Amino acid sequence: MIKKALASLVLLLMVVAGVVFAVKYNSTAGGSNGKLHVVTSYYPLYDFARNVGKDKVTVSNMTPAGSEPHDYEPPAKALADAQKAPVFVYNGGHLEPWTSGFLHDYKHIAVKASSGITVLPAEAQNNAADTVQDPHFWLDPVLAQKIVDAIRDGLSKADPANKAYYTKNASEYKAQLAALDNEFRSGLSRCQLRTIVSSHNAFSYLGKRYNLDIVSIAGLSPEEEPSAAKLAELSRLVKDKGIRYVFFESLVSPRLADTIASETGAQTLVFDPIEGLSNADQKQGKNYLSVQRENLRHLRTALACQ
Ligand SMILES: [Zn+2]
Repeated sequence: MIKKALASLVLLLMVVAGVVFAVKYNSTAGGSNGKLHVVTSYYPLYDFARNVGKDKVTVSNMTPAGSEPHDYEPPAKALADAQKAPVFVYNGGHLEPWTSGFLHDYKHIAVKASSGITVLPAEAQNNAADTVQDPHFWLDPVLAQKIVDAIRDGLSKADPANKAYYTKNASEYKAQLAALDNEFRSGLSRCQLRTIVSSHNAFSYLGKRYNLDIVSIAGLSPEEEPSAAKLAELSRLVKDKGIRYVFFESLVSPRLADTIASETGAQTLVFDPIEGLSNADQKQGKNYLSVQRENLRHLRTALACQ
């Protein structure tokens, strides 16, 4: 009799423990404080998701601050944790090689940032046979608005009760992106030069939007190395066109830009493709909009704009 009661008690305790575990597990998956947990693959998507979700979401970013996402591979623990997030936002244009394996197992709402965007083919490069798409579309403030739409739809699907909230936030943030587009349009309308020379080629979408010619020293990924012949050809072009500034990127060594600059007498300027803001920059309040405004200032200097 006592044995039977004890067995029932043990069984009851096991059921209670199971329920407690399940509740705890779900709250982890759904984010702390009942907020929707959103995982993004790299910085601009993290910034956009925070602007759309605001107080109703917690956003985690897979690429650490200050790292560039092109060849980054997240650790197994981070990947396993991200599998539980109700929303996952990624580029979709061959930026993060790890996402294809990740998405194979992912069961929740995956938001592909490139879904409403015509992704440009990669410019032919010496050793880039595997890179077929140019993933840098977030740098065009018009296409950035399409990314915001995709994030808004993903959050609304995962958390329909707050759909109106996400829609309002997305509209407000898109208005700021539209204002940024106007600043680029007017800021780059009267310039002496229209050619930009840069290290890795993150400029294609900006160039297409604002009618600039882009010449890249390396390829689409910062690790690509140009040949000696290509460097010589670029030096000639810089001299012929009277180009005064050569761009290098914040997360990449300025060595290549320095080489061209020293051979031609040009100076170097930073262009930030906003692939990963450092913690220090984020603490200072820098974000996609403020860094794009810095980029515009540098572009206006390089192209001698009025
Ligand atoms: Zn890039």
